[in-house]
Amino acid sequence: MNKTNRNLDALNYHSKGRPGKIQVVPTKPTNSQRDLTMAYSPGVAQPCLEIAKNVDDVYKYTAKGNLVAVISNGTAVLGLGNIGPEASKPVMEGKGLLFKIYADIDVFDLEINATTVDEFVNIVKALEPTFGGINLEDISAPTCFEIERRLKAEMNIPVMHDDQHGTAIISGAALMNACELQGKKLSEIKMVVNGAGAAAVSCSKMYLSLGVKPENMVMFDINGVLDQSRTDLDAMRQQFATSRTDVKTLADAMKDADVFVGLSAGNVVKPDMVRSMAPNPIVFAMANPEPEIDYESAIATRDDLIMATGRSDFPNQVNNVLGFPYIFRGALDVRATAINEEMKQAAAIAIAELTKKPVPEAVNLAYNAKNLKFGRDYIIPKPMDQRLITEVSIAVAKAAVASGVARKVITDWDAYAEELRS
Ligand code: NAP
Ligand code: MG
Repeated sequence: MNKTNRNLDALNYHSKGRPGKIQVVPTKPTNSQRDLTMAYSPGVAQPCLEIAKNVDDVYKYTAKGNLVAVISNGTAVLGLGNIGPEASKPVMEGKGLLFKIYADIDVFDLEINATTVDEFVNIVKALEPTFGGINLEDISAPTCFEIERRLKAEMNIPVMHDDQHGTAIISGAALMNACELQGKKLSEIKMVVNGAGAAAVSCSKMYLSLGVKPENMVMFDINGVLDQSRTDLDAMRQQFATSRTDVKTLADAMKDADVFVGLSAGNVVKPDMVRSMAPNPIVFAMANPEPEIDYESAIATRDDLIMATGRSDFPNQVNNVLGFPYIFRGALDVRATAINEEMKQAAAIAIAELTKKPVPEAVNLAYNAKNLKFGRDYIIPKPMDQRLITEVSIAVAKAAVASGVARKVITDWDAYAEELRS
C-alpha cells in the first residue's frame, strides 16, 4: 500500500461509524426499573454515604480503582511536535484502547489547555478523587520533568510520564539482554547516547541504575557533546556532561563504543560510525518514525551487531506497550501510592527474564514467525505475548509491597496470577 492510501485508510479507520476509538460501557445490569433505581437515585445514595464516612470506600463502590487518566497538553505528540491538545486526542484515545485490551484498565483521555507547570499541576491534582492512576503523555521537555516531579510529590496515586519511564523500562530490559548475548557487563560498557530530551534523560538514568558507569557514558544534544566546556546546559543535562576532552563529534564517540542509544532524530548515524564501534556492538536507534540509522543499513555493516529500533516492521521493537499496561495493572491492584524506582526496575527485569523463556506457539503464530527464541533478533518479548500481564504486573505489585508503597497487600500470589489470566 502506498503512503497516500495508508493515510486515507487511517483517516477512514478513525472516522467510520462512531468517530474515535473508545466509549463508556456500563458494568452493571440496566434492564429493569430496579436496576436503574440502584444505578442512580435512590440506590446510589447509600454508597455516597459510606464513602463520605470512609473515603477509602471510593475504591469499594466506584470504578476509581481501575480507572487511569491519560493526560496530555499536546506539546510533544509522537514525533509530530507541539500540535495542541485537540490534535493529540487520537493518540490519547489510542493509549486508552491499549490499556483496555492489554490490561483491562479503563481510561478517560484528557486533553487539556495548560502549558505552564502550575496550570498543569493544579488541574491534574484536582482530579485525584476520580482516578486510580495518572499516565502523563506527550508533554514537552523540560516542563514534563517538573510536572511529573510535582505531581508525584503532591498526589497519593501513582503518576508516570510514560514517554520517559516506559521507554526507559523497555529499553533497559533490551539492554540487559543485549549485553548478556554480546558477553558484555553493564558496569563495563562504553555507551553513547544521542539526544538529551525527555526520553534520553530518563533512559540514561535507568541504565545508570542498572549498573552503567557515568564515566562510561557520553551524551549529545543537537549542539553536540555534553561536556564540561558547555555553558548552556541546564541542571538536568549538566549531570550527563562528560569530563572527556577527546570527544567532539558523534563519530569520535562511536569509535570503540559498545552501545549506541539514539533518542534524537532520524538518519544522523552513518554506517561508518557503526563499523567503528567495538566488537559485538549494540545499537538502539529509537527515533520515530525514522531511526538514527535504518535497520537494514545498520545490520549490513557487520555480523556481530545487535540492533533494535522503535519500529514494528523490524526485529527488536522497543515498544512501550510492553510496559505501561502491566505497570499500572500491578500498581492499581495493590493500590500503590506511587510508581517508584523499585517498581520500574522490577518491570524491566521481568520483561528481560520473560524473553528467555520458551515462546508459546500462539506468539509465533501472531507474528507469522517460526521458533522465536532468545537471541540477536529477539531481545525483548512481543506485545501480543499473553504472559506479560502475569510476569510484569506481579513483579511490579511485589516491588510495590516490598518498597512500602502498597496500601493493599496481596498474600495469595497464585490466586492473583489466576485472576490476571482470566
Ligand atoms: P525531545 O524531548 O524533543 O528530545 C529530543 C532530543 O534529541 C533533544 O535533546 C534534541 O536536542 C536532540 N536532538 C535532535 N536532533 C538531534 C541531532 N541531530 N543530534 C543530536 N541530538 C539531537 O524528544 P523525546 O521525547 O526525548 O524523543 C526523542 C526521540 O525518541 C523521538 O524521535 C521519539 O519518537 C523517540 N522515542 C522513541 C521511543 C521508542 O522507541 N519506544 C520512545 C520515546 C521516544 P536539543 O535538546 O538540543 O534540541
Ligand atoms: Mg507518548
